Amino acid sequence: MTAHKVLFLVLDGISDRPCEALDGLTPLAAARTPVLDRIAAEGVCGIMDSIAPGIRPGSDTSHLALLGYPPHEYYTGRGPLEAEGTGIHMTAGMIGFRCNFATVDADGLVTDRRAGRISATEPLSEAIRDGVDLSALGLEFRFESGAGHRAALALAGEGLGDKVSSNDPKKEGVRPPAVRPCTDDAADRKTAEACNEFIRQSREILFHHPANIRRMEEGLPSANLLLIRGAGKMGAFPQFSERYDLSGSVISAATLISGIGKVVGLEHIPVPGTTGSVDSDLDAKVKAAIGELDRKDFVLMNIKGADEAGHDGKAIQKRDFIEVIDTALEPLLALSDTLLVVCADHSTPCSVKDHSADPVPVVIRGPGVRIDRTNRFDEVSCAEGGLHRIRGCDLMPIALDLINKSHKYGA
Ligand code: ZN
Ligand code: ZN
Repeated sequence: MTAHKVLFLVLDGISDRPCEALDGLTPLAAARTPVLDRIAAEGVCGIMDSIAPGIRPGSDTSHLALLGYPPHEYYTGRGPLEAEGTGIHMTAGMIGFRCNFATVDADGLVTDRRAGRISATEPLSEAIRDGVDLSALGLEFRFESGAGHRAALALAGEGLGDKVSSNDPKKEGVRPPAVRPCTDDAADRKTAEACNEFIRQSREILFHHPANIRRMEEGLPSANLLLIRGAGKMGAFPQFSERYDLSGSVISAATLISGIGKVVGLEHIPVPGTTGSVDSDLDAKVKAAIGELDRKDFVLMNIKGADEAGHDGKAIQKRDFIEVIDTALEPLLALSDTLLVVCADHSTPCSVKDHSADPVPVVIRGPGVRIDRTNRFDEVSCAEGGLHRIRGCDLMPIALDLINKSHKYGA
């Protein structure tokens, strides 16, 4: 018997190092996780270097690797992926950026890099789309609001480079620097000029916008400046359906991950109530994934939260959230005809408060899979499993083989 469907469940940053607050256990080892443990007991386990041993992965580079797109070939920076995830359709050659709505005072000093964590920025974005004009530079742009104070910008036109600096001063009380080209290349100079012009024009519009005037009357910081960063040139991605002959969807509240899914041609399925944080509606997400498996061959689902707790260095909170995730995953046990792959994209140790290169646990469960003797889903138990130690780029080939879709190498 062979599965016809594949579910990749990526528990973002779930793996860790031994934590003092947990008597030397990792949050995953300390958590009560009957569902993940049962998946481990019914599958083949291992550990995985998302990129390669010793390489600390970003969530973007690791997800590209997991989908079988080697990041050294396909990764061109976070900007274009965030822009795609925010709803801008990126085509090859466009330059994408991440943006923040921020606050500058009358002297031009940045007083709040997140404009009081403003939300509902759509009227501001609309005014920018209507009012900013880069045609004098021979360029077009797209601009979309993201979650909270976030937004995305993309530049389109001839001869644009992506080696430019940011106007984000990274701290408050100083003037935002101009965007500068990082090389002498005319293309990079043109992009830097376009960025500065975009920032100048958008600032004019934001400064006088009724929504900002209202905010100031209410004593809230005005969202009167855009900080732009993460420039990257959109590449050409072979489409997932052609590469693997599988239709697919992505379910993720994080725009970076949904953007990655979209650039490779996965359909993004928004799930109301999911936040990419510890308060996310995980039941709705799991339900949506199971629903998608009826329509599609492949689903990538990312659950964030645990990564956030790791970045905050909160081991107990991370353990507790892992238990919440585990409970929400229960319906997955009933999946049939599906190869279920559970892993992390990288470790986010509470002691590091950032991603580390420590390999992550991985389990594959489904019809036809050889079952090893590992029956716990954690960093140490999985290291004893039958997959041993693989790389992120191995995961798609292994999954394709297990659903009998791998091409024979040789006669
Ligand atoms: Zn991640
Ligand atoms: Zn992270």
